[in-house]
Amino acid sequence: MFIARGAAAALMSFGACLWISTALAADWTEQDLNDAAALRDRALSGTAAFEHVESLATQVGPRFAGSPGDAAAVRWALDRMGKLGFSNVRSQDVLVPRWVRGNAEVVLLSTTPQFLAATSIGGSVGTREEGLEAVVVQVDSFDALQNLDANTVANKIIFIDQRTERTRDGGGYGHAVRARVQGPSIAGKLGASALVIRSIGTSDDRVPHTGALVYSIDAPRIPAFALAGPDADILSRHLKANKTVRLRLKSTARELPPVWSANVVGEIPGRERASEIVLLGAHLDSWDLGQGALDDGAGVAIVMEAARLIGKLERKPARTIRVVLFANEEFGLSGAREYAAQIGEEAGRHVIAMEADTGQGPVWRIESQVAGDALPAIAAMHEVLKPLSIELGANDAGGGADIRPLRALGVPILDLSLDATLYFDVHHTANDTLLKIDPKVLDQSVGAYAAAAYLAATKQGDFGRLPPAGGE
Ligand SMILES: [Zn+2]
Repeated sequence: MFIARGAAAALMSFGACLWISTALAADWTEQDLNDAAALRDRALSGTAAFEHVESLATQVGPRFAGSPGDAAAVRWALDRMGKLGFSNVRSQDVLVPRWVRGNAEVVLLSTTPQFLAATSIGGSVGTREEGLEAVVVQVDSFDALQNLDANTVANKIIFIDQRTERTRDGGGYGHAVRARVQGPSIAGKLGASALVIRSIGTSDDRVPHTGALVYSIDAPRIPAFALAGPDADILSRHLKANKTVRLRLKSTARELPPVWSANVVGEIPGRERASEIVLLGAHLDSWDLGQGALDDGAGVAIVMEAARLIGKLERKPARTIRVVLFANEEFGLSGAREYAAQIGEEAGRHVIAMEADTGQGPVWRIESQVAGDALPAIAAMHEVLKPLSIELGANDAGGGADIRPLRALGVPILDLSLDATLYFDVHHTANDTLLKIDPKVLDQSVGAYAAAAYLAATKQGDFGRLPPAGGE
């Protein structure tokens, strides 16, 4: 049995080798592969990626959709891409919603009132000026919230005390985030007066994590707050020790009329098939609490620098590398939707799309969503990335949020997974500053993105088309 399995495996891997080398011969010249490997190695010896994110975080800083910082970021990106030698640098107008955080106050009314470290969830309505005070009902998960009986929570404050699991692929966040996005409307429908959640994030510091909620049209809009992890612990211990715990909540959060922002686009034109596009995306906006250094200054720096290094090659790739810095990813994907809406027949000339929006890296896995007959080419790309300790994943990549509308139009996706193990310690918090960025880690990510994008832009055939999907 063991021998038979071993023999079969040996045969299969021999077969796979042949398959890959056939694909190599068909898809790339020896020089294409050597140039991609040289790009990868060059990045490891140092890139300008840190300078890009340093400049964005320092010159602009927080750049929440529609804020003065957002407008400054658009100017910064146009200027920076121009100076870096990108071609066809331009902006694409995007209407974005405008929400202002104001001040938030969460007070635990015990023998001595305690101020808890908290912030409004993005998009939340504020409270009345005098605030609101009510008894707290605790649930330990989003699922438990859905099973609450309306009679037991009417006019009370619901507290979801669900932890976010630390994972390399961000799956822990993906699971926990429903409490923040959908929780407020579910609690509103149950008749609760407000919702408080344990922050969606893994920080042990007294820094709350913000992020967007989505109110359903058929639910009353109630104020929603996120507590820092340690403060969620404080509240939880009080609830264990006392029959009744009351909170006082205040928030001056409010919505203003929408304003204009913009996607910023720049290109490294291809030498032969310039109308065919390999898209590298990141988002230009950030939340308002930190500097947006990791989210998504790092992604902006990675894609900008990967494209710049390709642009400096003597032998440019056949296809065009297009960098798109999307407007307002955080609070409604406005830029991604607008880009896909305006793309028209050019959608068919987007050969593949990649995105960087999970911090600085390092890249630890390559995943794809391409037509089946392009899989040997993905395996061959992986061979070039392997020296960076990158694994080969499955062909079910989801793509980042900003390229999902392109995926819905049938554009194939390449995911270079950025290591998310530490990312959710600072994600959407005041701790998202330059201090958390390691230039060496950024360089590895740039090497991976540059090599993969270069190979995609030199490949003989394309990656097929995906069946169009509904929505995004
Ligand atoms: Zn982001």
